[in-house]
Amino acid sequence: MKRNIILMGPPGAGKGTLAKQLISLGLVHISTGDMFREAIKAGTELGLLADSYIKHGNLVPDEVTIGIVKERLAMPDCENGFLLDGFPRTLPQAEALEKLTKEINRPIEAAINLDCDEKELVRRISGRRVCKNCGAPYHIDSAKPKVEGVCDICGGPLYQRNDDNEEALKVRLAHYVNQTKPLIDFYQERGLLTNFDSLKGSAVLFDEIAKFLKS
Ligand code: AMP
Repeated sequence: MKRNIILMGPPGAGKGTLAKQLISLGLVHISTGDMFREAIKAGTELGLLADSYIKHGNLVPDEVTIGIVKERLAMPDCENGFLLDGFPRTLPQAEALEKLTKEINRPIEAAINLDCDEKELVRRISGRRVCKNCGAPYHIDSAKPKVEGVCDICGGPLYQRNDDNEEALKVRLAHYVNQTKPLIDFYQERGLLTNFDSLKGSAVLFDEIAKFLKS
């Protein structure tokens, strides 16, 4: 089975949803976005700094983001494999990750890229709701909870992320095109990239990717 995986794709492509399903394969889910949101909730120095970038749709500076990933990857639970969701997002991050994974002898074995057209990304993000407690994702039209505003899994309240608005989304998509999309070539050149069609829906996508990782 392939371990030490990168999950790539634009905001709204379904990285978080897929990552939560792939945990069942024994991979540790590392989401830099979740780590920042936790720090914001806890009101730490990192949280205050991250919030000032995230709320406008901007990227948190590389040295900060690389630092938290470096610490996380060195933890013993990553030994059996990790799934990076939302990292790397820039070329310096990809280069730092390559160096770091070599040092700790946990090389990246696959980069999964989720393709999705922009109209669908906007629909998904503008209707997205997330559980405040467990982070489970919902959508106001296509993935409604059983009881409005309440998480099916833990009963927590659902909310709209403050960067899931039209203005911040425009900025996030521009950062994706200018800074993150070029990483497709970076991993293609290293023979690590595989593309999947995120329009297929989460159940089919999960089956295809689980099969690919087990092959
Ligand atoms: P996400 O939950 O992956 O959509 O991330 C939410 C926000 O956190 C992003 O829009 C960025 O502002 C910030 N963020 C997450 N990961 C990174 C990263 N690798 N580099 C810079 N900023 C990031």
